[in-house]
Amino acid sequence: MRFIIIIAIAFVLLIPLFAIPTFQQEAFAKADYGLSYSQHKFSNQPIVCIYEPNVPNARDVIVESWIKETVLGVESWQHDLAASEYNLKDRWNIHTQVISLEDQVFFDNKDCDVEIRFVKLDPNYTAAGWHIFQNGKSQISLVYTETEVCRTWIEGNIRYTEWCYKDDLVRSKALGNTATHEFGHAISLGHYTSDNPYENAEWSSDPVRSPSVMTEAVHYNEEKNKIRPIDINKVKEIYGGEGFGEPKQTTPQNSPVFESKTLGGFESLFTLESTYYKEPGNTYYLTISGKVTEKAYSKGQNILLTTTFPDGHDEEQKVLAVGSRNFATQMRVDSSAETGKYTISARYMGYDSETITFSILDASEKPIPKAIPKVTPEPKEIKSLPTWLKNNVKWWSQGSIDDQSFTQGIEYLISDGIINVPITEKTVSQTDEIPLWVRTNANWWAEGMITDSDFVKGIEYLVNSGIIQVK
Ligand SMILES: [Zn+2]
Repeated sequence: MRFIIIIAIAFVLLIPLFAIPTFQQEAFAKADYGLSYSQHKFSNQPIVCIYEPNVPNARDVIVESWIKETVLGVESWQHDLAASEYNLKDRWNIHTQVISLEDQVFFDNKDCDVEIRFVKLDPNYTAAGWHIFQNGKSQISLVYTETEVCRTWIEGNIRYTEWCYKDDLVRSKALGNTATHEFGHAISLGHYTSDNPYENAEWSSDPVRSPSVMTEAVHYNEEKNKIRPIDINKVKEIYGGEGFGEPKQTTPQNSPVFESKTLGGFESLFTLESTYYKEPGNTYYLTISGKVTEKAYSKGQNILLTTTFPDGHDEEQKVLAVGSRNFATQMRVDSSAETGKYTISARYMGYDSETITFSILDASEKPIPKAIPKVTPEPKEIKSLPTWLKNNVKWWSQGSIDDQSFTQGIEYLISDGIINVPITEKTVSQTDEIPLWVRTNANWWAEGMITDSDFVKGIEYLVNSGIIQVK
């Protein structure tokens, strides 16, 4: 019997949170590199995979500069190592590649020696970044959340400072600097520490500059936190005369082949109606929506939707699942829309959805409704819906209030004439079970993903089709 034990030791680059002495220390301490990963050193020129982050409140230009500085931060090792010896300079090459959000859907990381991800914060420390070696790869996390001093206090002659995360985004220079430090761990360096804790603290603040880029706390000023000759010499001592070695033999990325389906990744995939009619002079959008399972959900990964049109051609699009695991996209229906049967399938994180279909038909094929005279007038426009209703629906969709409160909301919609139901039907009674997709739909409306009018149409459909019974 074989046991595989994965040992992950984290090296955390801390925002300095220790003590700053108020008196000058004597320089008697010894300093050296701590525990290293020398057993995990690169056997070829490393391939570094940098994943584009999905940060909704960061503008594209900010994310671009994070990535740019991260690439520069990693490549500064190649630059400084190559500059230190002329003959071997090509042996110190580092190959960086950036994987866009789109490409992450099917990206195979088998050739990555180092993977770099951007993360919001470290739940355990106030850290700028960290490195672990796991499953044969270096995993680097860079924190993109800015920090601030939230508490200081004095004990004896030592002033302590505690740092907290805040909502601002970190500067790209600081991120690149952290990338340099963490990549030093990937190379196999440990922390460069002094046996005098005061000295370690001093290294992270003015007027001193860091003696090594591998000090355990990051310097406030990244210009004072560079790769030093002592770092370069240590790397050369570990790797010897061959540098990182030859370029790695890589295998091409396989394009995915879908032969058999793997279900279990989708809670739902649906359109609100099974038949849509194109009406002359009227353009509208139909909504294709769904929810991925908790098991499959992976933040920032896109769902691939494939629509097969009536003439047999396929169109693909990528849709992002939001934090609630819901996704939605819209399709335009105008006079030029192809009539016939449409088929939709979705794929996400290696899972396939069930296939769903809907039809778009000419208005002339619309069945003539049975002659039940309408008593309530057709509303021309949707009135804006009250805020309390939105809260009510949101809480219901999240399971914090019961179905009764939800049906009260529907009663309001009926009594205010927003929903069209036959006049004899006055009160709403809850059914035993409201379908899950209703809850999903309600949640989207509460989160602003679908319009008031779509929400009302959905409820109207529910009441008129008897899914929610009225008496
Ligand atoms: Zn570190």
